[in-house]
Amino acid sequence: MEKKNLYGLDQKQLKAIMKEIGEKPFRGSQIYDWIYKNRVYDFKNMKNLPASLIDKLEKDYTVSLGEVIRKQKDPEDGTVKYLLEYPDGERVESVLMKYPHGQSLCISSQVGCNMGCTFCASGLGGKVRNLTAEEMLMEVANAEKDSGERVSNIVLMGMGEPLDNFDEVMSFIKKANEILGIGQRHITLSTCGLVPGIRKLANQDLQIGLAVSLHSPFQEDRAKLMPVAKAYPVPELMQACEDYFDKTGRRVTFEYTLIDGKNDRPEDVAELKKLLKGHPHHINLIPLNDVTETDHKRSKNVNKFAAELKKAGLNATIRRKNGSNIDAACGQLRRNSRGI
Ligand code: SAH
Repeated sequence: MEKKNLYGLDQKQLKAIMKEIGEKPFRGSQIYDWIYKNRVYDFKNMKNLPASLIDKLEKDYTVSLGEVIRKQKDPEDGTVKYLLEYPDGERVESVLMKYPHGQSLCISSQVGCNMGCTFCASGLGGKVRNLTAEEMLMEVANAEKDSGERVSNIVLMGMGEPLDNFDEVMSFIKKANEILGIGQRHITLSTCGLVPGIRKLANQDLQIGLAVSLHSPFQEDRAKLMPVAKAYPVPELMQACEDYFDKTGRRVTFEYTLIDGKNDRPEDVAELKKLLKGHPHHINLIPLNDVTETDHKRSKNVNKFAAELKKAGLNATIRRKNGSNIDAACGQLRRNSRGI
């Protein structure tokens, strides 16, 4: 039988396991402290556990963070990209960015993705599987272990669509708080625009930030870039964002990847103005990372487009180009490592 991995389990879950195997629940708290406070993952070194319990644990359990099988560091800005392999052999990417106020980690929520955005490498082979909350915690643990520093902010903007893995992502957010001490206000979830998921999220009473990948203000153009727009058209999406703000008081960020000739034209600025002016918003402009399998090209107008949006009275910034020297649009490192 495969050993059960205890990494990522919270205090309550560890206590329940102790009860199951005929131990006192407080042993669960001791193991919890070893794993998360002392970062000791070898049962033998958990000094206050009796030998009989260590034997039992070694037989049926393990504490594993998975394995970082590739690491790329940008020599200019210090951004690090990790390729993490889980015990079942599946791989995901996480990206660690350094800021003056701390470290921010971009994590994956699925292996692959089913959303099929035409410019994105993560979705090229479809979704392989969801990540569990524990596996998302493993991404954070590895980044902290490798960097020797705490992660202060998390963005769910790596591979996968977090709202297509709703329950595990909610469990991850709660555990990131309890186990790693990362508060909800320091977590941002990015979605391609699954309206029912946004509405469900608004009802969770969380304080996390919401980012929505807009990429075009025009329904037809957006649907060409993002098939999800056919199911949830732009007006419905904007209403859900408005309601999210009303409910949570948190301004929505709109991500906007600039693609040459597709969404960087003057008419796009004018339509964005109609859509967003007077509504609480922030636009995060992302220069496209070229993905070899697609024929989209990076816009040559990034600075000009940002200036035009500001002139139109909109709140827009250009995303810092983290890791441009380690290249790789999200999902490419995994594909390359797999030869797909
Ligand atoms: N599924 C979620 C989160 C993952 S993608 C979402 O769609 O928001 C995180 C962001 O990167 C999204 O805005 C996505 O559209 C964008 N993105 C994907 N591929 C990209 C590429 N090749 N270049 C630039 N941005 C990209």
